[in-house]
Order: sequence, then structure tokens, then C-alpha cells
Amino acid sequence: MSQDLFQAPDYYLLDELLTEEHLLVRNAAREWVKREVSPIIEEAAQQSKFPTSIIKGLAEIGAFGPYIPEEYGGAGLDQISYGLIMQEIERGDSGVRSTASVQSSLVMYPIWKYGSEEQKQKYLPKLASGEFVGCFGLTEPDHGSNPSGMVTNIKDMGNHYVLNGAKMWISNAPFADIAIVWAKNEEGRIKGLIVERGMNGFTTPETHNKWSLRTSATGELIFDNVKIPKENILPLKDGLGAPLGCLDSARYGIAWGAIGAAMDCYDTALRYSKQRVQFDKPIGATQLQQKKLAEMITEITKAQLLTWRLGVLKNENRATTAQISMAKRNNVEMAINIAREARQILGAMGITGEYSIMRHMMNLESVITYEGTHDIHLLITGQDITGLAAFK
Ligand SMILES: Cc1cc2nc3c(=O)[nH]c(=O)nc-3n(C[C@H](O)[C@H](O)[C@H](O)COP(=O)(O)OP(=O)(O)OC[C@H]3O[C@@H](n4cnc5c(N)ncnc54)[C@H](O)[C@@H]3O)c2cc1C
Repeated sequence: MSQDLFQAPDYYLLDELLTEEHLLVRNAAREWVKREVSPIIEEAAQQSKFPTSIIKGLAEIGAFGPYIPEEYGGAGLDQISYGLIMQEIERGDSGVRSTASVQSSLVMYPIWKYGSEEQKQKYLPKLASGEFVGCFGLTEPDHGSNPSGMVTNIKDMGNHYVLNGAKMWISNAPFADIAIVWAKNEEGRIKGLIVERGMNGFTTPETHNKWSLRTSATGELIFDNVKIPKENILPLKDGLGAPLGCLDSARYGIAWGAIGAAMDCYDTALRYSKQRVQFDKPIGATQLQQKKLAEMITEITKAQLLTWRLGVLKNENRATTAQISMAKRNNVEMAINIAREARQILGAMGITGEYSIMRHMMNLESVITYEGTHDIHLLITGQDITGLAAFK
């Protein structure tokens, strides 16, 4: 990839809404992405390899558990700092952001919120430092948008449980040290459990040949009579609301992250449009290309405002699931549209790995589907405003 010349757009001077701490955290993440992610990410994506070298750096910029209290190894930051870190990481690559999102919101969050004190002490510091990487198993081969139909199950054997079933499309699965797995007990109640690599009957085959999110390892979780110690059950919350609570936190981070991908595509296209000369003038001087660029910055600015406000509500514990759905849906669609337009501004160069745009575009095809599809988020908004569920 060519040199990373990224300059973040801030058309409405929104930095003025951020605290000194937000800016410090954001700038540290921004610099780290330029230094450590940009130089290696294109090759990792071309080779479809998760770049393990960045795990330590992700931990150092506070990307693993930004809002988890410091006593458990987290960074103890607020929700806007968490969002800004996700924005900067996804500016580099959605696959890298996915690893950080899963670790923070889908692995550390449930242990922090639903786990026992012993579980928190045992796992959170190692996850925060990157010594452990975790994954989150909710989706099954036959149950994606409707996880309540899951068939993965646990049976109570007196002094332990036995886990059977399979999960699919699981980020970080091929190398994760632990998995937060959602399974039904004999009464049909969804329970969260911590499954450790090395437990007999637990395997994690990798999913190959993805055209999207190629820097993030995806795999299956297969459970064949896995013996789960009773102390590995998350004791404080069960039912579908437990995994959905984790998804709220992760989707909130994705809403910010998508802005990062959009900013990178816009910035790249803007620079290119001023340099590329056709018909004796820069293509940026043509009305058609200006229309694309003007619409991009307008959409980015709207998303920045929406998401900043959501962050304020989240800090006050007032952000609703439906508000988070709206931001995730809006921002990912905004980003994917900007990636497509930006790709066109670069002409043929836009399809190469010289620029990040095509990689962002392909990545966003996963982001628009995972953590609730684009359709499902629309239906959540529909249900919220009408009181009527259209997806059940
Ligand atoms: C790269 C990647 C990483 C992932 N990582 C994880 C992970 O770490 N952990 C995890 O648990 N899962 C993960 N997922 C799975 C992801 O969350 C699911 O793919 C997603 O929830 C959608 O499920 P599905 O693919 O089975 O699609 P389906 O649910 O089969 O949906 C197919 C289509 O039908 C539509 N649809 C479904 N129901 C309705 C309805 N009622 N009304 C209208 N339309 C409907 C959907 O919007 C979609 O367009 C990952 C997926 C990808 C691609």
C-alpha cells in the first residue's frame, strides 16, 4: 500500500465536543494505526492472515476492554473514548477492529457484567493485556438472525455440565484461548459459559476463502460432549437478553468503527481527485466528482453527530437498543456507499491494493451483515416506533 497520508475530516469542528482525555486516547490510537497497522495490513489481507503481531499494540492503546475498570486490567475509559478507539482502528481495517470489538464487548463485557468475581479475576486481566484472546459463539449453522432457536445445549451431570452442538462464523475462533458460548439448558433457558481451548471434544476449524474481513480469522466452534466445570457458567444473567446485552455494546462500537472506514475512503478519494488529471484538469475540478465528495463529507458529518450523541447517552446509561441499531445500520450503510463511490473516483487504481478502498468495501460487506443484519436493524427500529414486531 502507498504511504498512509490520512487526514481526518472534521467538517463541523466536532473535536470541540471532545474532552482532553478523548483527544489523547483518539490521537494515540490514530498514530498507532498509522505506524503499526497501515504498513502491514494490505499484505495481511491479500494473504488472508490475521496479523498476530498487532495484538500487543491493541492492548497498549487500550483497545481490549476500554471501558472495563482498571482493577480488572481495563483502561477505565468512558464510552466515547471506546468509540473513538474503534473508529481509529477501523480506519485502518475492519478486521482488526472486529478482533478488538469481540475481545472487548463480546468476551470481556459478559465476564465483567455476568461473571463471578473469580471469573473476572481469572480472565479479565489476561484478556486486557492480550495474553488471552477470546471469541463469542452465538450464531449456529441454522440459526443466524434468530439465535433464540439455537440447538447447542448443556446437560447437568451433577458436578459438571456436558456441552454439545456447533457454532459458525465465529470471529477469532481459530486461535482463541477462550470462547464465550451460548447454549440452552434442559429447561430451554439460554446460558453463557466459558469454554477453554484444550477441553476434550472442543475443536475450532477455520473458515477459508472469505472475500471479506480477510485479516480477521473466522471459524467454527464444535462441541462433542465437552465437560464444562460448573464454575465456568456465567452466573449473573441468562436468557436471550444476556447475549443481546453484549451485542448492544459491540454494535455501538461498530457504529463508530464504520465512520473510520468511511473517513479513510473519503480522505483517499479527496486527495486522489486533486492529483489525478484528465482532460487537462484535476478530476476534483469536475462537478460530478465534487458531487460525490460533497455528499460523502455530508454523510460522514451526519454520522459523526449521531454517534457522538449516542455516546453521550451511553455514558449516561440512557442509550436504548433501538438507538444503537439505528446508528449501526445508518453508519455501516453510509460507509459502504462511500467506499463504492470512492472506488469509482479512483478509477482502475481503486481496485488495487495500492489503496485501502476496495479492502474497506469488501470488509464492510461483513460488517453490514454481522451483529444483526441491515434488515434486522431496520425491523428493530420499526418495532420500536410502532410497538409491533415484524420479524417474529
Ligand atoms: C465475517 C463474519 C464474522 C462473524 N462473527 C461472528 C461472531 O464472532 N460470533 C457470532 O455469534 N456470529 C458471528 N457472525 C455471524 C453473524 O452475526 C450472522 O451472519 C448474522 O447474524 C446473520 O445470520 P445469517 O448469516 O445466518 O443470515 P440469516 O439469518 O440466514 O439471514 C439471511 C437474510 O435474511 C434476512 N432475514 C432474516 N430474518 C428475516 C426476517 N425476519 N425478516 C426479513 N428478513 C430477514 C437477513 O436480513 C439476511 O438478509 C459473523 C459473520 C460474519 C460474516
